[in-house]
Amino acid sequence: MNILLIGSGGRESAFAYKIAQSPLTSQLFIAPGNAGTGAYGKNVDIKVTDFASLGTFALENDIHLVVVGPEEPLVKGIHDYFLQDAQLSNIPVIGPTADGAQLEGSKDFSKQFMQRHAIPTAASRSFTKETLEEGLQYLETRKLPIVLKADGLAAGKGVLICADLIEAKTELRAMLADAKFGEASNKVVVEDFLKGIELSVFVLTDGKDYKVLPAAKDYKRIGEGDTGLNTGGMGSVSPVPFADEAFLLKVEKDIIKPTIEGLRKDNIPYKGFIFIGLMNDDGNPYVVEYNVRMGDPETESVLIRIESDFVDLLMGVAEENLATKSFKVSEKTAATVMLVSGGYPGKYENGKIISGLENVKESLLFHAGTTLVNEEVKTAGGRVIAVTALKDNLLEALQQATADAGRIYFEGKNFRRDIGFDLINY
Ligand code: AMP
Repeated sequence: MNILLIGSGGRESAFAYKIAQSPLTSQLFIAPGNAGTGAYGKNVDIKVTDFASLGTFALENDIHLVVVGPEEPLVKGIHDYFLQDAQLSNIPVIGPTADGAQLEGSKDFSKQFMQRHAIPTAASRSFTKETLEEGLQYLETRKLPIVLKADGLAAGKGVLICADLIEAKTELRAMLADAKFGEASNKVVVEDFLKGIELSVFVLTDGKDYKVLPAAKDYKRIGEGDTGLNTGGMGSVSPVPFADEAFLLKVEKDIIKPTIEGLRKDNIPYKGFIFIGLMNDDGNPYVVEYNVRMGDPETESVLIRIESDFVDLLMGVAEENLATKSFKVSEKTAATVMLVSGGYPGKYENGKIISGLENVKESLLFHAGTTLVNEEVKTAGGRVIAVTALKDNLLEALQQATADAGRIYFEGKNFRRDIGFDLINY
């Protein structure tokens, strides 16, 4: 069958790699893709939010399945766009409709969802400009630190952890009265701080049944030792040593099952991935956030551990028979190290020539911000290439990915040499 994959990051490169491996795939198209995805299929120059052009392309190229990588088109309703058209509605889309995508698109919606379905999460209340005074009073009643979250999508920047009350009050005012994050902070969730250690659990669901994909841990800070500014993610590992079987069973019983049942009770048909950001507090899981797509760079580490036919699993979602699909996960450990542009996550330059790709023999290279200019691979984004190794144990995987990250060159290249090493002795 012909498949259209939407997106252009490292996550989509990993999707493309898995989709291209499947004997069920005839042709793979990636819109818009990057310099690496061209190895797995044909890049198509259409923006991820240009639904009309994506729809026309799907019809003209006899597409049987659309797989959506990033959140933006989901929150903006790409699945609904396909469902509303007589011809396009015959093409299944992997990714929720806009109502389900609110789990990520609105923090207030997701907190209400968790409260309604008794899913463990931090206590919270939401406030608007009109209820700012109440919000300021609420802050006085809570323990510090306290977490302020802009309700809408804010490019990963809308969460503030405030260590003192004056700072919290100033920030709440800035978000609600001065639109610090634009429309995204028209509403703000004020949430108690959760202690513990974070990890990500991924679920694939057809709305009735689900498969729990391998868990992963990502590294968000730019600097080694988890210092400096937050980024889109500098690396990841899967599995996660501190997420043992007992913990994961708790996650399934207390969080995953009630989430899938909650969506059904709320009449939200959900077909796609759910990425659950969790805090492990002494063996007890709490939801920090939901995302309605896979994570990046977790996907790179998660997907290469899936041994079953990935397209067959996606068809299980499309045809609502996921329960009948075989699902096998490798016992091996995957580690991903992200190469980023100099200056990222602040200002950085694009267009740097990338060389040494052929030096990497053992790891997989998942391109993110790259582009092909006159046969030359150049940088075209903050996060440039994910280097992913799959080995028998964590140390080997980390050493391989880190060594291979050093074998690629471009002016200003930066990467963390400590990804995952904190987990070695867990
Ligand atoms: P979110 O976009 O909700 O995932 O928040 C971004 C990051 O902020 C999370 O990955 C956590 O590291 C941190 N965070 C969010 N909410 C909390 C919380 N209630 N307690 C502690 N840390 C949090």
